[in-house]
Parts: sequence; C-alpha cells; structure tokens
Amino acid sequence: MTVFIPKEVYLTVVAACVRYANKRIDIDDWLEVSGIFIGKNEGEDVYITKSYPIMHQELDKDAVIDQYKWSDEDYEALYVIDDEAFSNGEFTVGWWHSHPGFKIMMSHIDIKTTLSYQTNNALAVSLVFNPERLVRQIELAEKKGDPVKQLEGDPGFKIFRLDDVNKGIQASYHTVDYVVKGFDSNEQLVTLTQKFLIDITNMFPKENIFETYEKFITDRINELNSRLQGIEEYLNTLTRKGESHRVVEVLNSQTRDIRKFIAETFIKVENIKQFKNYLEYKERSTIVPKVETILAEWDETVSQLNAKLTAIAKKFAI
Ligand SMILES: [Zn+2]
Repeated sequence: MTVFIPKEVYLTVVAACVRYANKRIDIDDWLEVSGIFIGKNEGEDVYITKSYPIMHQELDKDAVIDQYKWSDEDYEALYVIDDEAFSNGEFTVGWWHSHPGFKIMMSHIDIKTTLSYQTNNALAVSLVFNPERLVRQIELAEKKGDPVKQLEGDPGFKIFRLDDVNKGIQASYHTVDYVVKGFDSNEQLVTLTQKFLIDITNMFPKENIFETYEKFITDRINELNSRLQGIEEYLNTLTRKGESHRVVEVLNSQTRDIRKFIAETFIKVENIKQFKNYLEYKERSTIVPKVETILAEWDETVSQLNAKLTAIAKKFAI
C-alpha cells in the first residue's frame, strides 16, 4: 500500500497542528490536534484528496498524551464531511493527529481510534505528525538516553496501520509508504514547509483569528488612507512654497512607495485567504464569512486607489 498526499493536504495538517504548537506558545501549553482524511482507494493504494482539521485538545496541565476527546459537534462534523464526500464518490480514508514535541508512534488510545477507522474501512490509515520533527529533522530516541537519529528530507510524520484488526486494541501496527505530491524533492518539501511553518506561527493564531485579521486589514486601510492624505498635504506645501515644479516628481515617488506597500500587504492578504482554509470544521461557518468581508474591504480600498491618485494629480493640475 502507498498513500498519496497532495501538497495542500499536507500543508493543512501542518498548519492546523502548528497553530497549537509553535514558538509563540509556551511548550507546556502545546496541544494535540486531530482531523480526518477524505479520498479514495485504487487497489490497495490510498489517494487522499482533502484534509479536515476537526478539533484540538483542551489545555490540561495534568493530561497525559492523547487525551483528545471529540465532542458531539466534532462527530457531527465528521458525518457531514463524510456525507458530502460520498456525493463526490469519496469517503473517509483515515485520520490524523499531532504529537507536538514528542515521539511519533501509536499510543493505546491511537490504536483504539485507528481500530474504529480500520473497522469501517479496511484500508484506512492513521497519520501522526510532530512539527518539531519537521523543524529539527531528528527522530527522537525510543528510550531516554538513546541517541536521536538525524533525518534528511523528512516531512515530520509517519503513517501507520494496524496489522490485524481482529486482535482489537491488542493489535500491533506497522508503518506505510507514502508520497507527498507537489514538491520537487524531499529537501524542497522541508525547506518550503519550514518557511510555511513560520508564516503559520506569525499569521495563524490559535485564538482571535478574525480579530487578528480584522486589525491587520483595518490598520493597512488606515495606513493607505493616511499615506494618500500625506501626499496631498505634501503637494500643498510644495505649491505654497512656490515649488510646483517638484510636484510631478514627488507624486511619482510617493506613488511608487504606495505600490510597494500594496504589494507587501498583498502577500499577507494571500496568506489570510489561504490560512482560513486551515480552520477547524466547526469554526468555519462563523469565521470564514467575517474574514471574507474584511478581505473584501481591502480589495475595495485597493480598487479605488488609481482613482484617488488621479484625483490628486488633477487637483494639482498634472
Ligand atoms: Zn497519539
């Protein structure tokens, strides 16, 4: 069996997991995240087409690993997603979760969860991702004191399957081969995803996502408006001082600065557009429309820019 994973599916898992385990969060507060894979089988192979983040663990300092508890709402999401997939000839092909900062393996709880997936779908798979493994490219030791293993071009996860579901929760497990599509090489996968992880850390907070994006866009709109106002004031001053001959030159250079500012903002806006796809399923209906509204405000502001610049030029008879 080989599991085929498109780039966007992989990035969804990385984003959803890193959102709750990154440098901005105290390491003791890192949380596990879990979700499901939609796709289909061809022979024994698994073709994943989509990944849905479903939930993250509640913060509980006394919790041991894998104390993730799906709520009724989370199970409901699973049924809705599975239903929707069915109408496209696809289905739930497995599940994934994170082991933030600790070894990639299957705990007893993971075996139990995987058992239910493999019982429903004999070819179901279980992916475990540790962002630290991706960042540091090391495999943690089996036992304390053993050396860590240096990795190269490792995506930070392993995929598992139970050997024999008839053994129930006593079942042993093995790793499964996979291919992550959409990268030129494993090295490129690691380099690009490590960079992506930094963007996620900076622009995909675990809380107040909409408020964060709203503030960012509002600040950018205000900044743009104040720059436009600044140009006008500057040109007024020049005219008053009898330096009208400099108006064209000043307007041109200020326009260049504004275009640069727009281009820089564009990159972040594209990030926001992409990152909203990595929200947990239950967050989407409330957050996505609000984010789209605020993004539309930015688009609207930018679309008026040329008219505003032309109006300024006209005012100073250029
Ligand atoms: Zn686990």
